[in-house]
Amino acid sequence: MKRMYRFTAAFLTAVLVFLSVGCHKAEPIKRSKTYLDLFDTVIEITGYEKDAAQFERVCAEIYALAGQYHALCDIYADHGVIGVKQLNETAMTKPIAVDQKLFALLCFGKEMAIATDGACNIAMGSVLSLWHEARENGILPDETALQKAAAHTDIANLILDEEKQTVYYADAALRLDLGAIAKGYVVERAYELLHDLGKKEGYLLNFGGNIKAVGTKPDQSAWVTGIENPFGDGYLKTVDISEVAVVTSGDKKRGAIIDGVWYHHIIDPKTLFPADYFSQVTVICKDSGVADALSTALYCMDQKSGAALLLKYDAAAIWVYPSGEVISMQDAP
Ligand code: AMP
Ligand code: MG
Repeated sequence: MKRMYRFTAAFLTAVLVFLSVGCHKAEPIKRSKTYLDLFDTVIEITGYEKDAAQFERVCAEIYALAGQYHALCDIYADHGVIGVKQLNETAMTKPIAVDQKLFALLCFGKEMAIATDGACNIAMGSVLSLWHEARENGILPDETALQKAAAHTDIANLILDEEKQTVYYADAALRLDLGAIAKGYVVERAYELLHDLGKKEGYLLNFGGNIKAVGTKPDQSAWVTGIENPFGDGYLKTVDISEVAVVTSGDKKRGAIIDGVWYHHIIDPKTLFPADYFSQVTVICKDSGVADALSTALYCMDQKSGAALLLKYDAAAIWVYPSGEVISMQDAP
């Protein structure tokens, strides 16, 4: 009997130890995954998950979605789908039927080009391609060629037929470039995908600096993101975020030195040269696609015009002047 008692006690202890170790293991663990082969940028997914395999499955779904958009948005390489590259080659000859994903993205791009009065204009492809060549070859674009190209950037000539889901360029020399909006837009779609998968908190998406926090961390605390210092290492400041996007446009990341001068990649539609109001502009608002479009737009206009635009979107911004002065408009949602 005594032996039986000892056996039961040992068994119960073993069960308790197993349960306590099991419960401890069931806490969500911070995990992250990085992809380097889409949108010419670093995609980082951070998520709190108990199960590593579950996290891998979620990442694989996001990566697959991002891959589809990458193929649709790429203007340089063929991916066997009707994407922007194919539109730029054929949509001036006849209306082209496109995938629903691309159609919705183009509608969004057109809407933002109109809303920003052309400051962020996806129809600037003809001008942007001259700058792309210039950066590749190290030779400044010809100013007459820039002016000529600028005559073919009217977003009204991008004809989107909702019913037939077709795209037509009413100007034969119009070209699209989605570089200013694609990453932020896709982050927002990835956010929706996470919701569909039941992941409404505990994830942080970062597509090359287009950041969106999905809810809070599991302990209900906000995610913390740093606003980069455009003049050196480290951060200018940190921002607590949840259910919000943070997107930065700046002059340091992409560009080339031509004749000893740095020419970055964000082109002011008024001068047709790299915009020179700021070193960096960060936009904080709910929708990551809107934040991406606005960060490019605000980079190409003075602070007063940018502040007026932000009010329409319930968005906040941090402007960094080349002098180092930092101005914040903090009414983030
Ligand atoms: P972002 O880093 O989001 O500001 O986007 C910059 C990218 O958008 C560039 O690399 C170009 O492909 C494109 N771009 C540059 N200037 C403009 C502009 N004013 N409007 C629309 N797209 C632009
Ligand atoms: Mg942008």
